[in-house]
Amino acid sequence: MILFKRPDDLVDFIQKKRKSLIKIGFVPTMGALHQGHISLIEKSKSENDITICSIFINPTQFNNPSDFEKYPVSIETDIEQLELNGCDILLMPSVTDIYPENFQKSNFELGYLETILEGKHRTGHFQGVCMVVNRLLEIVNCDILYLGQKDYQQCMVIKKMVLDLKIPVKIEIMPTLREANGLAMSSRNQRLNETEKANALSIYEVLKFLKANIFEISLTALKEACFLKLATKGFKVDYIEITDELLNPIDTTQRNQTIVAMVAATIGEVRLIDNMIINNANNSE
Ligand code: AMP
Repeated sequence: MILFKRPDDLVDFIQKKRKSLIKIGFVPTMGALHQGHISLIEKSKSENDITICSIFINPTQFNNPSDFEKYPVSIETDIEQLELNGCDILLMPSVTDIYPENFQKSNFELGYLETILEGKHRTGHFQGVCMVVNRLLEIVNCDILYLGQKDYQQCMVIKKMVLDLKIPVKIEIMPTLREANGLAMSSRNQRLNETEKANALSIYEVLKFLKANIFEISLTALKEACFLKLATKGFKVDYIEITDELLNPIDTTQRNQTIVAMVAATIGEVRLIDNMIINNANNSE
C-alpha cells in the first residue's frame, strides 16, 4: 500500500495512472477502522483496479467539540488492517492540506435534508460532510464512491451534492455490518464501557421490533414503546423516526412503500445512530 500525506502527490500519481484505462474506487473514512469499513474496501477491490482509502477526522463536521476531541484514533492498526486487506492507496492528509488558507467555503443546497433528523440535531454537520467529501473527490478523482448505509442520511446528502454539482462519480451504498449481537459497528463503540455496550444492542432490538410490528401497531404506540425501551436501558433519545425512503416522516403505512426506521440516542457520553429498512417496496408480496 502506498501512503500519501500530501494531496498534491496523490493527484499527480492518479493523473499518471489515468493515462491507461483504469477504474478507481474510493472509501473515505475517519479512521479507527472496523470490519464495516473493511467491507467497503473489499467491495471496492472487487470492482476496481485501484482502491483508495482516506483517513481524515474532519473538524468541520463536528458540531460538538468534545466529540471531535474524543474521536478514537488508531493509525497503526488502521494501516495494518488496510494492508492486510489489500488496499492500494491510503491518503492521510492534515487539516491544512484539506483546508488551505485560500480554501473557498461554499454553501451546499441540501434542502430539507439539513433540517431533519441528524441535520436538526447536529447543526452544520452536513455542510461539513459535503465540504470534505467534495474536496476529497476533487483529489482522488475516483469512478466509484463507497458509502455505508449505517449513515443513511449522509448517503442521501452526498448523493444530492454529487447530483447538484454534476460530479462524475457513481455511488454505491453498502449494508451495515453488525457485531454478533446486532450492535452496528462504529468507531464510537470503542468509547462504550462493557455495560453500555451490552445496553447499546437495544437499538438493534428496537429496530427489529419496529420491523416486526410496523403493520400491526399504530406508529405512535410503536415509537412510544421504543422510546421507553431505550430510556430504561439508560439512553437519552434524540429521535426514533419512521420515514419513507427519502426520509420524510410518515403517519400511515402501506405495504407497497419503502419504510425506514431511524434512531439516534446517547448512552453514557457516546451518541449512536442506526437505521433499518423495515419494509422494502421492491420485496413486498
Ligand atoms: P466513518 O469512518 O464513520 O466516517 O465511516 C466511513 C464510511 O464507513 C462511511 O461511508 C460509513 O457509512 C461506513 N460505515 C461506518 N460504519 C459502518 C458499518 N457498520 N457497516 C458498513 N459501513 C459502515
